[in-house]
Amino acid sequence: MTVFDTSKDCHSALMKTVFETSKDCLLTVARTMTVFAVKKKAVIINQSGRKNMNPKKEKTIFMCTNCGNEFLTWSGKCSVCGEWNSLKEVQSPKSKVQNRNAKLPERPQSLKEISLETAKKTATGIGEFDRVLGGGLVGGSLLLFAGEPGIGKSTLLAQISGKIQNTLYISAEESMGQVKSRLDRLGVTNQTLKLVAETDLDNIIETISSERPELVIIDSIQTIASIDFPSTAGSLIQVKECALRIQQVIKELGVTAILVGHVTKGGDVAGPRTLEHLVDVVLYLEGERYHDGRILRGIKNRFGATDESGIFQITDKGLREVKNPSELFLSEHQDSAPGNAIAVTLEGTRPILVEVQALTVATNFGYPKRTASGYDLNRLNIIIAILTKRANINLSNHDVYLNITGGLKVSEPALDLAIALAITSSYKNKPLPKKSCFFGELGLAGEIRKVMKEDRRLKEAKNLGYVTFVSKNISELISRVL
Ligand SMILES: [Zn+2]
Repeated sequence: MTVFDTSKDCHSALMKTVFETSKDCLLTVARTMTVFAVKKKAVIINQSGRKNMNPKKEKTIFMCTNCGNEFLTWSGKCSVCGEWNSLKEVQSPKSKVQNRNAKLPERPQSLKEISLETAKKTATGIGEFDRVLGGGLVGGSLLLFAGEPGIGKSTLLAQISGKIQNTLYISAEESMGQVKSRLDRLGVTNQTLKLVAETDLDNIIETISSERPELVIIDSIQTIASIDFPSTAGSLIQVKECALRIQQVIKELGVTAILVGHVTKGGDVAGPRTLEHLVDVVLYLEGERYHDGRILRGIKNRFGATDESGIFQITDKGLREVKNPSELFLSEHQDSAPGNAIAVTLEGTRPILVEVQALTVATNFGYPKRTASGYDLNRLNIIIAILTKRANINLSNHDVYLNITGGLKVSEPALDLAIALAITSSYKNKPLPKKSCFFGELGLAGEIRKVMKEDRRLKEAKNLGYVTFVSKNISELISRVL
C-alpha cells in the first residue's frame, strides 16, 4: 500500500512536471503559430496591394488655385502652371462635382435606332456673323467668342443682342448703365432684351433658369466666379468650372449661350484656349487696334464648316459688315509708288486683295535690319535669302521693312510672291505695272509654286480689274515686270 502511495505521489509529481512542461511547449507552439499566421497575413496584404488600414481617415490633397491641378504633397511652386505659392490644402472637391453629375449609364443603340439630328439655326441678321456660324445660332449650343480686350467683342454682341428676341445680357465687367449707354449709341431698341450685372456663378445660373431666355450673353467668362473654389475669378479652375456649369444648365434648358473670353497677346494661362474643347463653337475676332478692319474667324464649329470668316469695319455706329473686303483694304493704295504690290490672299473661302508695302534702305551701320508688320519675320528672312541667291538682288547691306496694310495679319505662303516683288520694286526704285496683282509660294530654288484655290483668286482679281502674272521662276518674273 505504501509503495502504491509513494508511487501515487511520485506519479502525481511526474504528471505535474509533464503537464507543466507540455503547457510551456504548447504555449510556445501556439505563439509560434500565431506569429507565423500574422506574418502570412501580412504577406497576403502586401501581395494584394496597399490596403487602407484606416478607411475613415479623410485624405487631404493640395490643389493649385490657379490651374486646379491636384497634388499629394505641398510644394512652393505648381509644377504644372508654374505659379508660386498657389497650392492650398483641400478635401477632395472632385467627389462633389462627380456626385452632381451622377446618373445611370446610357444604353448603347444601333445605327438604325438613332434618328438624324439636324440642327435648327436661328439667323442673327448680321450676315457676316451668320456666315461664320454656317447659317446662325443653334439652340442649346455654347459659343466662345474670343479676342483681345478692346477689339470690339462687346460691341458686336450688343448688336446681336438687339437682333435676337428674348435675350439676356449678363454683364460681369460693366455696370448696367454702361451697357445701356453702349446699346443706345448703337441704336439697339430691342424691348425684349434684359440686362443684369452679376459676377456670381450660382446667381447667374439661377437667373438663366428662371428667365429661360432664347440667348444668353455672358461678358466675360474671366470675370465670373463660383464660391465653391478658393481661387479668384479668371484663374484656370474658375474659368473651366464656370463654363462647365453654364454648359450643363443651358443644355438642359435649350438656351443658346455666348461666352466672351479675353485673349492676351502673351499667350495667357487662364485664357479661352482652355475652353476650346468644351464649347460647341469657337469664334475669334481679330484686328489691329489702330485700324478699323476686323476679321471674325471660326476656329471650331460642331454644326458647320470652320474655314469661313467674316469681315467688319469699326464705325461709330458699331461694327459694319464689309461685303467687298478687297475695296476696304485697297482704299488707299497708290499704283505708282515703288515698293507697293497687291497680293491675293484667302480669308476662309473668300479671296481678298491686300496691299503689301516694302521699303529697302542702305544699312548705315553694321548688321542690316529686317522688320515685318502683319507678317512672319522668319518667312521674310527666307524670301530675302531667295531673292539674294536666286534673283541677284543683293540685300546683304540693305535694311528691309515690310508692312501688310489695313492691319491685316497674313500667314499664307501665297503672299510670298507679292512680298518678293514689293522688296525688289523698292530696291530698284521702280513701281510695278499698274493694276497688277500677284500670288504664289516661293520655293528655295526660286521656283514659283501653286497655291490653294487659284481659280477663286483669279476671278476676284479679274472682277476688280486687276491683271495677274503667271511665271515659273522668280528671276524670270522680275525681269518681266520690273
Ligand atoms: Zn497650377
